Amino acid sequence: MVIQITNQRDFAFKGYIFIYLGLWYAISVYLEICWSTIWHPADQRLLFTLHSYVDERSFKLTQNEFKNFEEYLIAVRELSQNVLRPAENRLTRENGIPDDLTAALTDIGLFGISIPKEFGGFGFTMEQQVRLTFEFCQASCVYRSRFSTTIGLTSQAILDFATEEQKDRYLPKMASGQCTGAFALTETEAGSDASALTTTAKKNGNKGWLLNGEKRYITNAPQADVFLVMAKTEENAAGSSGISAFLVDADQPGITVGEPPKMLGNEGSHACYVWFNDCQVPFEALIGGVEGRGLKAALRGINHARLHVAATCVGQAIRLIDEMTSYASKRQQFGKSIGEFGQIQALLADSQSEMSAGKALCLDCAKKFDEGAEIPFIDIASAKLFCSEMVSRVADRAVQVMGGLGYMEDMSDVPRLFRDVRLFRIFEGASQIQQTNIAKAMLKNTRSHSATSPIKP
Ligand SMILES: Cc1cc2nc3c(=O)[nH]c(=O)nc-3n(C[C@H](O)[C@H](O)[C@H](O)COP(=O)(O)OP(=O)(O)OC[C@H]3O[C@@H](n4cnc5c(N)ncnc54)[C@H](O)[C@@H]3O)c2cc1C
Repeated sequence: MVIQITNQRDFAFKGYIFIYLGLWYAISVYLEICWSTIWHPADQRLLFTLHSYVDERSFKLTQNEFKNFEEYLIAVRELSQNVLRPAENRLTRENGIPDDLTAALTDIGLFGISIPKEFGGFGFTMEQQVRLTFEFCQASCVYRSRFSTTIGLTSQAILDFATEEQKDRYLPKMASGQCTGAFALTETEAGSDASALTTTAKKNGNKGWLLNGEKRYITNAPQADVFLVMAKTEENAAGSSGISAFLVDADQPGITVGEPPKMLGNEGSHACYVWFNDCQVPFEALIGGVEGRGLKAALRGINHARLHVAATCVGQAIRLIDEMTSYASKRQQFGKSIGEFGQIQALLADSQSEMSAGKALCLDCAKKFDEGAEIPFIDIASAKLFCSEMVSRVADRAVQVMGGLGYMEDMSDVPRLFRDVRLFRIFEGASQIQQTNIAKAMLKNTRSHSATSPIKP
């Protein structure tokens, strides 16, 4: 009898345990579903920090959710450090920016940072854009490449040179990330010398323009919704005067995008050949409705992009300094941390001071950009030249500080960063072209100063 009572109590106790475990299981399943929107199974990484900025349903964010620029800057920093940086290996693995990460860039509004509010963008000043870039570009610069051709090369040319209809058609979609712009200037025979391009645009009766030619190294060509294409409208015109710019929708017949070539770095970014074969576009595709202004429009976007590249180099340098400093403080050799050795300290200190110089140069240049009626293109050339060369030196030092680890692709981020930053000395005007432009302006200034100098006889 006594035994029976004990058994009944035991049974009831087991029942409670069972219900308790069942409830606990149900709660865990519920919690898992809630968190699944911010948990990436492939990387097994919790995106906790973004949680305060991103609502639980998705990455949806709009500019209305930020009270001011400083708040936005913090959100971008959090995104870069806690979401994008840890996911960098996915860029190589998936040979592109995965959709969830592209959505994160779009939802936080990065496509709209340079586009005025009237067209749905944030309308940030250049100084603000540069500060954002310092933060954002501490993660792989491949992320930046996804929206760089939209915020700079294409949208800025549209802002200054397009008709009101063209602005209304493209800018709001660009600002929201619905429309990716790609910039199609470079050709096999026209690299640094853009005026040598041979792509043509000919009037085709009353149907519009017919484009024919081959472009190469076009960033975001596979993702593009619209190409800003530079083509000759007057074949025999001297220099750049016969070149015009066209806004060509990517779904027009006659456009073929090549397979992305494998690059030295920037895995996950795509710079492709694009062919235009009897590509028919309406008359309204001509930017601003005016012929012969193609290279001027291109330069407008290029100057914006050059300053952004300079700021990107600063961001990447900060990241490389972070990697090498953290290693130097931990790595022990000869019974002490290598950071205690003077030669290692010199590598760290040179990198830090050069990065700070680049940062100051970018900010100064951005202020001039914001204040001046004219684009400070020589200051921009100096910033682009200095910062792109600077980040290459910093990357080289980072490899040196990290020794063998700096050379092991699968064991550290530094080899990848080293390869990535090499690009900055080549595109948006190679270093030699920046040097030429700076020196030419200096010499021109000297001549004009002496011509007006009161001490000149
Ligand atoms: C990853 C990547 C992405 C790109 N994305 C785009 C894009 O989206 N759209 C686009 O239109 N283009 C793009 N480009 C093209 C880029 O702008 C060109 O590669 C760049 O302008 C250099 O042209 P090039 O490669 O033909 O080199 P070249 O012009 O052949 O130059 C080769 C070398 O000669 C030097 N050189 C040339 N002329 C002179 C001179 N007068 N004096 C001294 N030295 C000189 C150069 O500095 C360089 O060192 C991209 C390139 C790359 C690599």
